[in-house]
Amino acid sequence: MAEKMTRNTNDIIQIENLKKHYGKVRAVDGISLCVRKGEIYGFLGLNGAGKTTTIRMLLGMVRPTSGSCYLNGKKIHSGVHDLWNNVGYLVEIPYSYPDLTVHENLEIINRMRFISNPRALDSIVETFRLGPYQDVLAKNLSHGNKQRLGLAKAMIHNPDILILDEPANGLDPAGIVEIRELLRDLAFNKGVTIFISSHILGEISKLATRIGIIHQGCLVREITAHQFDHFLQKKLIIGAWDNKAVQKRLSDEGYTANFTEKGDLEIKDEEAINHPENIVRMLVHSNLPPTLLKVEEEDLETYFLRTIKNNGNVK
Ligand code: ATP
Repeated sequence: MAEKMTRNTNDIIQIENLKKHYGKVRAVDGISLCVRKGEIYGFLGLNGAGKTTTIRMLLGMVRPTSGSCYLNGKKIHSGVHDLWNNVGYLVEIPYSYPDLTVHENLEIINRMRFISNPRALDSIVETFRLGPYQDVLAKNLSHGNKQRLGLAKAMIHNPDILILDEPANGLDPAGIVEIRELLRDLAFNKGVTIFISSHILGEISKLATRIGIIHQGCLVREITAHQFDHFLQKKLIIGAWDNKAVQKRLSDEGYTANFTEKGDLEIKDEEAINHPENIVRMLVHSNLPPTLLKVEEEDLETYFLRTIKNNGNVK
């Protein structure tokens, strides 16, 4: 029986048992997931995990070895064109015409997309704060501003679906916050469905409503933003003039504090992490005031190392 080309579903993005093998390399090895309307789905994985390959298949740029992708219920294949009016995307280094200015680059996209609203271009320039760079040639932009131009091009036509591969690459911290706010506004206030990849756990955890972790081509875990807090290991880092004395004092109070590589102390006790003020009070009363106190959350690399160490496998 011929495979169905459309399906009736509330899921805006669907990936079904998707595989891409390059010879012996299993770049993507059987991924299935769904993204509902207005969700921000964070696709998180270390370098080489298979994020870009999945996104390229989702956009019809790479033919899967097997499995299927659907956007708005329509199956992705090389001949599907009408779909792209509703989709904006940014895949790795954004492509621009290097010898044209920012304004000219956006004008071309505007025409290619048949956008009739005369305000669209000004509005996107304003949104991405590209005003001061309008007359700069794309090739002369900083990496961060190239990324902004890429995002502006992806969003100029107000798409319902945004697919972004590592959009925070090259942006400075202020730029990352700006983009995060913008994406949240699009999803939560305008119902745009966003699929965003990253290898930076801290960044994705602040933005996504749901996170899928990809490792060696497989989706190893899916969690909601609410579950995230319990999922990552945290520790309380303490520093003082006399850390040995602090360690002894903490031990007297029943806390296990170990030395970090930098010579500070770390405590993994949940009570201490949730109420560092009690630790501070106790140390100040003992004449051992802390000079450093912070709660640290593990990053993706540490998470993988810990899980692999514990289970021998993350799957
Ligand atoms: P990064 O964050 O580094 O871009 P990624 O998670 O996006 O990593 P992919 O670029 O999808 O990972 O690569 C997944 C695996 O597939 C890697 O081992 C990569 O070397 C391999 N791969 C990707 N494209 C090809 C190709 N055209 N030919 C052979 N191997 C490939």
